[in-house]
Amino acid sequence: MEPPDNSTKDFLSFLRGKRRNGRGRNSFTPTHEWIAEQQRNMVEYQLRCRGIVNERVLEAMRQVPRHEFVPPEQMKDAYEDRPLPIGQGQTISQPYMVAAMVEALELKGTERVLEVGTGSGYQAAVLARLAAQVYTIEFDPVLAAAAQERLAHMGLANSVVVVCGDGSLGYALGAHYDGIIVAAAAPEVPEPYLEQLVEGGRLVIPVGSLETQELRQIRKVASQPVSRFLGYCRFVPLRGERGWKS
Ligand code: SAM
Repeated sequence: MEPPDNSTKDFLSFLRGKRRNGRGRNSFTPTHEWIAEQQRNMVEYQLRCRGIVNERVLEAMRQVPRHEFVPPEQMKDAYEDRPLPIGQGQTISQPYMVAAMVEALELKGTERVLEVGTGSGYQAAVLARLAAQVYTIEFDPVLAAAAQERLAHMGLANSVVVVCGDGSLGYALGAHYDGIIVAAAAPEVPEPYLEQLVEGGRLVIPVGSLETQELRQIRKVASQPVSRFLGYCRFVPLRGERGWKS
């Protein structure tokens, strides 16, 4: 059965049906041993080996069940070293990219964070283990509703607020943030992000063309952006008023 893609209500009924009926004839049912091994290997061979050093980030990446954020047909590949489709033409980011971006937020545990691009809700769940309060905003209402339901089902309804809207404008109602993390590629840095950061706050964002972007950490120092290049990357486009016009 293919997920309907035209209404939030249909998509949620589809997800509930999957939960009730199991995962279908060709389903893959992960065992505890499989999950533990996949999580350990992901952390050691994709993250630590490539330079992720923050132990809190590594532990959060090990603990969040990534296989529960992908469609059933992607579950066996959930811990592979690549992005995966999550429906609505969108993706869950590669584990390394999630870890590198989250590490660049420099979280201690007391922060208020905004994520732009909820997608599956996976990165928001990682952030919930590292910050005090997470706001996450998603443009696509079907993905926003599915992520909200998934995060609530995991007991994260209080620590993660899911908003449906245009995150290219940030989310003024939750401001100010100690960190803003943008999981979609922007043509340039949207001004509202700087305005919605506290002094000393960090913005992590891919900026560039539709084909390739620079991943940047931008720190707000004396109200001015101080930018650090983190590497090259390729993200799906940021839509909305300050994003790419399609
Ligand atoms: N963080 C997600 C996860 O853990 O699954 C993956 C994010 S996916 C790479 C990028 C997401 O950004 C897509 O779900 C897309 O719909 C969303 N997006 C694009 N433009 C947006 C905007 N202006 N506001 C909010 N979300 C946006």
